[in-house]
Amino acid sequence: MRDFSKIKRIVVKLGTNTLSKAGRVDTAYVGRIAKQVSSLIKDKREVLIITSGAIGMGAGVLKRKSKVTDTKLLQACAAIGQPLLMDEYRKAFGKCGVKVAQVLVTAEVLNNRKTYLNLKNSVEMLLKLGAVPVINENDSVSTDEIGTAFGDNDKLSALVASKVDAELLIMLSDVDGLYEKDPKKHSDATKINVVYEITSGVMKSAGGKGSEHAVGGMKTKLEAAKIASNAGCRMVLANGRERNVIKRIMAGAELGTVFMPKRKLSNRKRWILNSVSAGVINIDEGAMRAVGNRKSLLPSGIVSVNGKFEAGAVVMLNYKAKAVTNFSSVELKSLIGMHSSEIRKQLGQQRRDVVAIPEDIVLIDY
Ligand code: GLU
Repeated sequence: MRDFSKIKRIVVKLGTNTLSKAGRVDTAYVGRIAKQVSSLIKDKREVLIITSGAIGMGAGVLKRKSKVTDTKLLQACAAIGQPLLMDEYRKAFGKCGVKVAQVLVTAEVLNNRKTYLNLKNSVEMLLKLGAVPVINENDSVSTDEIGTAFGDNDKLSALVASKVDAELLIMLSDVDGLYEKDPKKHSDATKINVVYEITSGVMKSAGGKGSEHAVGGMKTKLEAAKIASNAGCRMVLANGRERNVIKRIMAGAELGTVFMPKRKLSNRKRWILNSVSAGVINIDEGAMRAVGNRKSLLPSGIVSVNGKFEAGAVVMLNYKAKAVTNFSSVELKSLIGMHSSEIRKQLGQQRRDVVAIPEDIVLIDY
């Protein structure tokens, strides 16, 4: 039996295929979602929605029948579709007396600690006001080419869930959950009820991609589950078209597949884990062991430094951990092999005497 009775903060992710019917947003469906989410809000829970569908709606307005692939046209579709999509939510939630707020994010915003904190503050305030933040990627400004895009909202939803300290991510899709083999190809495939660890075997059960304007497939859902589980957040992957799906999941019904969290991480550690690294510090075995045992990283353990970064950047340690470095890449190179006590002599008394403190180091440990 699943017990979600104590969960306060929930992220609900709605995919394009779930939200639409015959190529258009299904207004009646949005209405049913709004009703279920509103009853959770009245029950003193906090809910954030990650929505897809802007590109699909824009493509519909532009009467595009086939999948749009040109970046500029995709951006235009998103810009045309996003306000229409929001209007659907506004009307549906309005009927339940609940306010919605549009929040558009990019990978860049989530990776930068300052903009991430701004985002977190505004989301916290919206939740305090009883509003539902409706989040989508800001597709018209972020693209793969400039490396600011998430690409799919599966990953975005897990990152948001992890960064706002949600306890549960409900990923509503057009699949019934995770199967041990592709149910589209094998009629005897059985659904997995609980996944405790996303092993390479579990990854293998992922099928192909979604259709039409949707981006994610089972693989991106499992990647999202990894991000969520690593951040201490449970994830339920379920068919969004199940009757009263959110309400029943919250009541403990065994719908879809639940992915269990791996560990509890502090807010700062989640942020470190989900930030893009600016470089790599290669460290020796002893230093890696020490870091794994919650010890600081000392300059004596550094073997080499790759990339150019400033003090305060998030970097990889041997591709096995992520850390906030107290020194820039140039400074680190000058400290290689040095004893901690020599750091201040070299760089000044006001500087830290370790490369990274345990609170700023997170093992990736997938
Ligand atoms: N941000 C895209 C949109 O709103 C959706 C991406 C996805 O389907 O994952 O259309």
